[in-house]
Amino acid sequence: MKSFSEILNKNNIEIYRETIDTLQINMGKLCNQACVHCHVEAGPKRTEIMDITVVKQILKLLRKQNGIKVIDITGGAPELNRNFKYFVKELRSLNLSVIDRCNLTVLHEKGQEKTALFLAKNKVAITASLPCYTEQNVEKQRGRGVFVKSIDSLKELNKLGYGKGDKSLQLNLVYNPLGAFLPPEQGNLEKEYKKFLKEKFQIYFDNLLTITNMPIKRFKHTLKRKGELQSYKDLLYSNFNPKAAKNVMCKNLLSISWDGKLYDCDFNQMLEIPVSNIHKSIFDINSYDEVAREIITKEHCFGCTAGTGSSCGGSLL
Ligand code: SF4
Ligand code: SF4
Repeated sequence: MKSFSEILNKNNIEIYRETIDTLQINMGKLCNQACVHCHVEAGPKRTEIMDITVVKQILKLLRKQNGIKVIDITGGAPELNRNFKYFVKELRSLNLSVIDRCNLTVLHEKGQEKTALFLAKNKVAITASLPCYTEQNVEKQRGRGVFVKSIDSLKELNKLGYGKGDKSLQLNLVYNPLGAFLPPEQGNLEKEYKKFLKEKFQIYFDNLLTITNMPIKRFKHTLKRKGELQSYKDLLYSNFNPKAAKNVMCKNLLSISWDGKLYDCDFNQMLEIPVSNIHKSIFDINSYDEVAREIITKEHCFGCTAGTGSSCGGSLL
């Protein structure tokens, strides 16, 4: 088996950062769930949480930057971070588009009763996980009780105007496979999801994003336990698609961890592969443009380039 960079060379593809239009910000590993596929290994007992000093430094750098348009906030469950609302308000006052990667069930947690309304008022786009439209499959991956709560939250979001074609109230759902296989074709699956959720629950959403599971962290351990790790890696490798490789998301983003360290993407962040810069933290730079254009790719990158490709924004083709 050739390495990822050998395969890129063979296909005359270079991956480097072209522009930075998006910051992917991980506000911490605390989550009210502990899903089996989670590449963050997030959960209720995690204590890594972004503090106000990091939040303020991210904002300070953003105030000097014109090219960045989108702030994609993730976790854990970022809403559980006590600085979340302050951060969102400040970002919106800078006229930046904000995406909240919401697990839906967090909206049922104590103290989160007004979060959905807050998100709507601040015109925050929501990208929410729903790996299947059946209760059994969702709960296999995300835990007992998750499906009913997720459906309730989606109904609440619809009532607030989300998911009905209003560009300022975007509600996108995320599908990721329940096992060691690639996602089906995004467009067809979106039609199926829309039909089912409308007919069964009167739920509406804007787009479905299909994301390939990365064989790292918790999903890697699950595959290992089942004896499926190697065959899954082989599947990603044998489905390498040069067209997808040309569109990988790291070409246009920077990823920041809860403690302010800089990475090429959220996956590299979880694997603790920092940017190639001499400066590896937001506290060492004066501008996001100071970060090197080189991107560190490794074996896990086959997860982004298999089939129609995968990114935090769904399929790449
Ligand atoms: S996948 Fe999302 S909801 Fe599940 S444990 Fe990880 S961060 Fe939490
Ligand atoms: S895993 Fe990260 S670095 Fe590798 S191709 Fe995907 S986005 Fe780029």
